[in-house]
Amino acid sequence: MKRLKVGLIEVPMGTSLREVIFEIGGGINNNKKFKAVQTGGPSGGCLTEDHLDTPIDFDNLIEAGSMMGSGGMIVMDEDDCMVSVAKFYLDFTVEESCGKCAPCRIGNKRLYELLDHICKGKGEPGDLDRLRNMSYVIKDTALCGLGQTSPNPVLSTLDNFYDEYLAHVVDKKCPAGQCKDLMRYFIIEENCVGCTACARVCPVNAISGERKEVHSINQDICIKCGACMEKCKFDAIIIQ
Ligand code: SF4
Ligand code: SF4
Ligand code: SF4
Repeated sequence: MKRLKVGLIEVPMGTSLREVIFEIGGGINNNKKFKAVQTGGPSGGCLTEDHLDTPIDFDNLIEAGSMMGSGGMIVMDEDDCMVSVAKFYLDFTVEESCGKCAPCRIGNKRLYELLDHICKGKGEPGDLDRLRNMSYVIKDTALCGLGQTSPNPVLSTLDNFYDEYLAHVVDKKCPAGQCKDLMRYFIIEENCVGCTACARVCPVNAISGERKEVHSINQDICIKCGACMEKCKFDAIIIQ
């Protein structure tokens, strides 16, 4: 397993994101695929592979759709859901808002609720325009830097990972398999030998089937705990 280099670093302006992440930081854990890097703290934007050779400085990061901010960097891999990531950062800014002005106090809460709605599979395509429009209004009308930058994670993920948003609102799927409400555990008929192990560990009796016959999962009852998948020795249970 690859060991990442943990620590606080100081680099000269002009160092590329790629150098910081792959050379100094040691790359991505468990050989996963790089997906995004969020720079500048909770109000920064999420940049993609296309931005990796960007030399880090104030202007370049703003031009790329993020910012220098606190100088922090959070790297995401293929297992990270970018809609959930945007929601995570909004949660932080909602907590941090002092409440003095309405765009930040109310607008960020509405943004958070909309993202939560989408992560739960209740979103619709029109919500994506709503997210974008609301983000621009908050940026333009909030009183201080916190509110003016808080929609950056939403706007940058909409710009760079629009397909992932579409998958949530149109297909009702989370491509990264992170949004629990959009996950479905399925039994692959060809692999199931009917050993009954999954049915015996299911805490809500959602799995039925006779011994030595193909089993199936009742999606209306399943609470997505994952116990059956862990137990199956025949790779017959997958998440879709
Ligand atoms: S934008 Fe600034 S002033 Fe307005 S509520 Fe947010 S933190 Fe307070
Ligand atoms: S544990 Fe796997 S092989 Fe056994 S019944 Fe369940 S799905 Fe089929
Ligand atoms: S994920 Fe959990 S609740 Fe759902 S079928 Fe498997 S064991 Fe049962």
